[in-house]
Amino acid sequence: KKKITRLPEWLKTPVPVGDNFKKIRNDLRGLNLHTVCEEARCPNISDCWGGSSKSAATATIMLMGDTCTRGCRFCSVKTSKAPPPLDPHEPENTAEALSRWGLGYVVLTSVDRDDLADGGARHFAETILKIKQKAPTMLVEALTGDYAGDLEMVKLVATSGLDVYAHNIETVEALTPFVRDRRAKFRQSLDVLRTAKESKEGLITKTSIMLGLGEKEDQIWDALRELRKIDVDVVTFGQYMRPTKRHMKVEEYVTPAVFEMWRLRALDLGFLYCASGPLVRSSYKAGEAFIENVLK
Ligand code: SF4
Ligand code: SF4
Repeated sequence: KKKITRLPEWLKTPVPVGDNFKKIRNDLRGLNLHTVCEEARCPNISDCWGGSSKSAATATIMLMGDTCTRGCRFCSVKTSKAPPPLDPHEPENTAEALSRWGLGYVVLTSVDRDDLADGGARHFAETILKIKQKAPTMLVEALTGDYAGDLEMVKLVATSGLDVYAHNIETVEALTPFVRDRRAKFRQSLDVLRTAKESKEGLITKTSIMLGLGEKEDQIWDALRELRKIDVDVVTFGQYMRPTKRHMKVEEYVTPAVFEMWRLRALDLGFLYCASGPLVRSSYKAGEAFIENVLK
């Protein structure tokens, strides 16, 4: 097996910084919001925050703390069986801050909270409801966990007023037990996406797949077909990057041309749109993509 020691050129891109980005960052100061964009030093920050206009600008906010009850082998989030309790003021404060920030599109995500009876679904739904009250034109995407298969909780979040329901399958079915926490199951994730779609007329559903974990081409095809069968609208592909030496190793750096090939294949299969590239994350320019493909 060939050993991978150096990053390919296409992953060494400098982070360009535009005016729109600077303005959004300045507005953020003092609002006490935790953006994944800044905290994870996402390389796409100027593309997302500095989108073509403020109404298309996208940011990802982390809810329910920084400690997860699961331990996926690709993820660098802290893990504990008993994370601190939820902040009951978070839904209100997040909605207030976002309405003042005035962004076009927000992705709300969270750690998994298997320690809570409802997995945090009510807290999540309340946050969405409050955002829609305070900032009715803001587009909201929720990127949730699987609520341990409790589909009532999926329904609760899906009917809270959001525009896009995202849940990531992360990888192909065969690799799922080696990549995700043992409580996460490929079929369970399909159930989450199916339930979300069925809960609300016109709701857009979305998922994301990491490449470079050793998945085979036919396994990716199978995953895409399964997703289309349950009417998932959007799929994104990005390169898996190993956060630390304790995490799974990268099996392959997939070339930009192969990412583009998967984008075209996804469109052929009938997905509404697909973002695919080495640096793409599931929230990559989600606002712009939504405006161009759904609102058009
Ligand atoms: Fe933020 Fe997601 Fe864009 Fe990265 S890809 S800057 S995390 S919205
Ligand atoms: Fe990371 Fe999400 Fe897995 Fe928790 S459930 S370890 S936040 S990927």
